[in-house]
Amino acid sequence: MKAVTEVPVPMRALLAGARRKERALVDLTRRLVAAESPSMDKAAVDACLALAAAHARAIGGRVKVHRQHGFGNVAEVRFGPRRKGAAKPVLLLGHLDTVWPLGTLKTMPCRMSEGRLWGPGTLDMKAGVAMGFTAIEMLAEAGLLEREVVLLLTGDEEIGSPASRPVIEELAAGCGAAFVLEPAQGLAYKTARKGTGDWRVEVKGVAAHAGVDFEKGANALRELARVVETVSRWTNLERGVTVSVGWAGGGTRSNVIPAEAWAEVDVRIARKGDGPRMERKFAGLKPVNKRCRLTVTGGINRPPMERTRGTVRLFEAARDLAAELGFALEEAATGGASDGNFTSAMGVPTLDGMGAVGEGAHARHESVVLEHLAPRTALLAGMLIRGAKA
Ligand SMILES: [Zn+2]
Repeated sequence: MKAVTEVPVPMRALLAGARRKERALVDLTRRLVAAESPSMDKAAVDACLALAAAHARAIGGRVKVHRQHGFGNVAEVRFGPRRKGAAKPVLLLGHLDTVWPLGTLKTMPCRMSEGRLWGPGTLDMKAGVAMGFTAIEMLAEAGLLEREVVLLLTGDEEIGSPASRPVIEELAAGCGAAFVLEPAQGLAYKTARKGTGDWRVEVKGVAAHAGVDFEKGANALRELARVVETVSRWTNLERGVTVSVGWAGGGTRSNVIPAEAWAEVDVRIARKGDGPRMERKFAGLKPVNKRCRLTVTGGINRPPMERTRGTVRLFEAARDLAAELGFALEEAATGGASDGNFTSAMGVPTLDGMGAVGEGAHARHESVVLEHLAPRTALLAGMLIRGAKA
């Protein structure tokens, strides 16, 4: 292996700096949490983004807002010097939308207790966004921000990033690495995520009186049951493929043979090649009862984030820096997707789970463990120095 001469990353100093900023980090998180931002409420998400953009400007960021229709705006914030011929910038990916409707704070207030910060969107991922800001600010103040960092804040991640995906991909194309501020998996960084797909199957049958005209009917629910059985058998746990029918309905009343039925299907894949395979399988669904018709819509939404060499190298760099801080960083894979799936599929080395440590994302007990904030922020800052060189 080639010996790499690198400026040593001052991890101890970064940790001390992160501890000094811990209070401000928590305050910033609380301000972001106070601006409730459900994905489907553009005005609310935009207000939260405006708050983040103002903070970005205050700490020296160059802000460009990508306006979106129907979904939250996207902020592209650049920090650090832009030098010709310099290493490619690092992309920091965050989202400000949450799964929580407006008013959630009334019954699930943002509060500190038991060593945690509780509240909607704390862990997923407003604390992570605040960590990103803090890491950049620390480096800028210490004169350690030698290459450009692009912080991208989106507002539609929780609904599959329909509007922000093109912006994410356009920016990622010019970056040497992507760091995702999603919560850690337990204490681990994430080096692999499954890809996701959604399908909807609609069955059209023929309605008839279940007693008087039984033979004239074509039972859409019975046909749907066959579809549910067929697609469920496509699950292959060894390959990391799961197919789960999560929501279905049909019919009108028990004495009517149902003319309509539908089901929504969640699909997860671990390998990129399984995407087209699943798409072909769904497209090939045929009714057993020829008097029923199937309409199949949907497809793969996020490709899998595979454990590439580039990602492993980033993880190894992070593990070494964590060791200097005195903790053993672990690596994990997850079935859930993030915007890191997009950057990884483009071939950009991507490391995920670099945000807060906590529990209960999307659940009432959503919370961030405070004691991990400073070390993880120091690690993130260290990776911004080391990262794209790895
Ligand atoms: Zn998230």
